[in-house]
Amino acid sequence: MLPLECEITKLISRRRPLIQYWYHSCLVFLPYFGKSFVKSKPKNAFIMAIAMKRIVIVGCGAYGTEAANSFSKNYQQYQVTVINNVDYYYMLPATVRNLTAPDPEEWIEKLTRPLSEKLNSRVKLIIDDVVDINSERVELANGSSVPFDALIIATGAHWNAPISPQLWGDRTIQGMKDYARMESDELAKAKDVAVVGGGFVGVELAGEIAHAYQDELLSGEKTLTIYHASSSFFSSHYGKKLKHGMEDSLLKLGVRIKYDCYVERSAESGAFIRSTNEVVVADKIYWTTGPRANTPPISIANLLNSKEEIKITETFQAAGHAKGNIFAIGDVTDYPRKAHMLTATFIPVIVPNVDSYLRGRPLTKKIPKAKKYATVAVSAGPEAASGHIAIPVFGYVMLPKFVMVRMKAKNLWTEQV
Ligand SMILES: Cc1cc2nc3c(=O)[nH]c(=O)nc-3n(C[C@H](O)[C@H](O)[C@H](O)COP(=O)(O)OP(=O)(O)OC[C@H]3O[C@@H](n4cnc5c(N)ncnc54)[C@H](O)[C@@H]3O)c2cc1C
Repeated sequence: MLPLECEITKLISRRRPLIQYWYHSCLVFLPYFGKSFVKSKPKNAFIMAIAMKRIVIVGCGAYGTEAANSFSKNYQQYQVTVINNVDYYYMLPATVRNLTAPDPEEWIEKLTRPLSEKLNSRVKLIIDDVVDINSERVELANGSSVPFDALIIATGAHWNAPISPQLWGDRTIQGMKDYARMESDELAKAKDVAVVGGGFVGVELAGEIAHAYQDELLSGEKTLTIYHASSSFFSSHYGKKLKHGMEDSLLKLGVRIKYDCYVERSAESGAFIRSTNEVVVADKIYWTTGPRANTPPISIANLLNSKEEIKITETFQAAGHAKGNIFAIGDVTDYPRKAHMLTATFIPVIVPNVDSYLRGRPLTKKIPKAKKYATVAVSAGPEAASGHIAIPVFGYVMLPKFVMVRMKAKNLWTEQV
């Protein structure tokens, strides 16, 4: 940043009304006479910065990072700012091994990376909490506000402990390590462990624990039970063969499975099965009952559904916001599938759409229609996995186990960090 630009940015951030007025007037009028002005002094970064439209991305996980890097690589005419509440990127699916990896600290090193390294150097990074979003700016906990021409909200979801413990401790990679060590000690001491919820997170967590404590489970020294509300694992986007395959893998590792058991929390007993009132006997319970959208505070009406997810249209624009400058993507939205691997399909839709919006053109890219079955990969520890590819008309094709172990179970996508 040039020294002059630093000074002006500081003044603007102190919100002096006159300077803000001047700054925004420049932004409004520059497109009309700025073209030749900018052309005549192409190396003047300050002039360029003023002429640039501003894209702000809140949340820098799977989707936010890909979107920011895609803009800064392919659309250099925009000024891209990312706001995240931790200063590192983490591979969320890999956090399921945090408690059971042979060396949890080394594992956490593999699944995390400072955002300053992960993001393209042209992206401006702000680490702070968002306290409000309105249709023009994002207000931060430090008192400053970040104006935007287009905003992408990509704050993901909150998954119950021990998954995504990024907000535990001091929000640093070391904080994640400390949390993992504490939880890992508790798991080691527990004799009876319960996992409530047989979705992909519950199954994967149980698989990791079972792999690490297989001898104790098979000898009866320790128990691990999955309680699931319906009669088979996962949602209807997963094929039967995959469900049965995962069930077999877990049973072989000594896991007990109780289907048709809806478990409720209880202040006295910890947890009980609703239909029978039977107490869940466990000295450690993991509640893997699904994610909750991590929606930041927003003072725009009608953006959320009853689950507090951001409602999106097929162009990724926030439904119910007429101005059209707010977009949302990933686990924070009401899109029914929560998946990292959809970044490859969704980023080429949202990024050109934001560009079209900023140029005043029609938004032509649409979210492809979800197929009946999803393309999925589920692991049960580092040596067991099952997965299928969705195929139109035929449904799905199972992939060989050794392929799934190599692709997913062994490293849990950490090679992409
Ligand atoms: C155990 C597990 C296994 C999984 N396995 C797979 C798999 O095999 N394949 C697959 O495709 N998907 C998998 N998923 C799902 C996948 O990880 C998520 O769908 C994906 O990470 C969602 O990306 P996101 O960008 O929406 O959110 P995230 O990746 O969660 O990123 C959100 C970011 O926003 C930040 N943030 C949150 N709130 C705020 C705020 N208020 N202000 C600023 N920043 C904020 C967070 O710190 C984080 O950096 C798995 C998930 C889990 C939990």
